[in-house]
Amino acid sequence: MVTIKKQLVSSRMRTFSGINGRNFITIHETANYAKGAGAQMHADLQSSGFSASWHWQVDDKVAIQSFPHTVRCWHAGDGAGNGNFHSIAIEICVNVDGDFQQAVVNAAALVKKIMHDEGIPSANVVQHHHWSGKDCPRHLRKGDKGIDWASFKRLLPTKADRSSSNLSYGSQGEAVKQLQIDLNKLGYKLTIDSSFGPATERAVKAFQASLKLTVEGIVGPQTQKALKEALVKQSVSRKVLKVGDKGDNVRAMQAALASVGFYPDKGSENYGVDGYFGTKTRDTVKRFQSVYTPTEIDGIFGPKTRYELNRIIKK
Ligand SMILES: [Zn+2]
Repeated sequence: MVTIKKQLVSSRMRTFSGINGRNFITIHETANYAKGAGAQMHADLQSSGFSASWHWQVDDKVAIQSFPHTVRCWHAGDGAGNGNFHSIAIEICVNVDGDFQQAVVNAAALVKKIMHDEGIPSANVVQHHHWSGKDCPRHLRKGDKGIDWASFKRLLPTKADRSSSNLSYGSQGEAVKQLQIDLNKLGYKLTIDSSFGPATERAVKAFQASLKLTVEGIVGPQTQKALKEALVKQSVSRKVLKVGDKGDNVRAMQAALASVGFYPDKGSENYGVDGYFGTKTRDTVKRFQSVYTPTEIDGIFGPKTRYELNRIIKK
């Protein structure tokens, strides 16, 4: 596994303003054949202020990050296009004293990690050429150094996890539809049209702001997770629950209670979170009430108990 390092550039002089969309990964080669022109040298070049910028450089030993993925770097040659505004840039080093094939293998390991972290499918790992027609990454395109673009792509996981792909302005399809349904359940009033337009973007930003997440209008893994949690809390707040009830509402209530230390049955599997409101769950609700709603200790999960539980979870 390639060593991964950070040497972040603090200056934003050579980047675009706004937040990078992170829907693509763009592969470059440095075209710098000089001895010693490896990842460290290029990271230092960016630190000292080069005329372009990119997120990562990788050689046969190390991958070094220069900019957070949320920064829009100058690398794709497509102006305000998807290359500069929606992709993460990786430069593969071609220095004569380096092992190019190993550098490509290292780049693939890095790409795999970024695909996972940012929810980017392998179909969206593209060449610099894709954006501007430039002959880059030159040797991977030509295959004259023992490894070509197709072999590089084969090093990446083929099965894209669609559910974890980022959604942002312009996205279409089932995942957007589900996002709109989820947002409406949380009180937003979107037209369900499977198309991520200005209204959906506003709703996503409002949701992110309400939870103090980065307000970027892009639905990545963190926002997806927050949405799921918000929906669980929402379902907790729906109904009065009591002994004999069962189902997802009960399960969500039990999970919420357990998350603040009130386990339906601490000794049993899954702490007794089983979707069934029996006497043990009733006693758990009573224990919770004796602490938080001492004037109402009836073992029934009603509005007052629910309000207190939600308040404590939000802390
Ligand atoms: Zn390039």
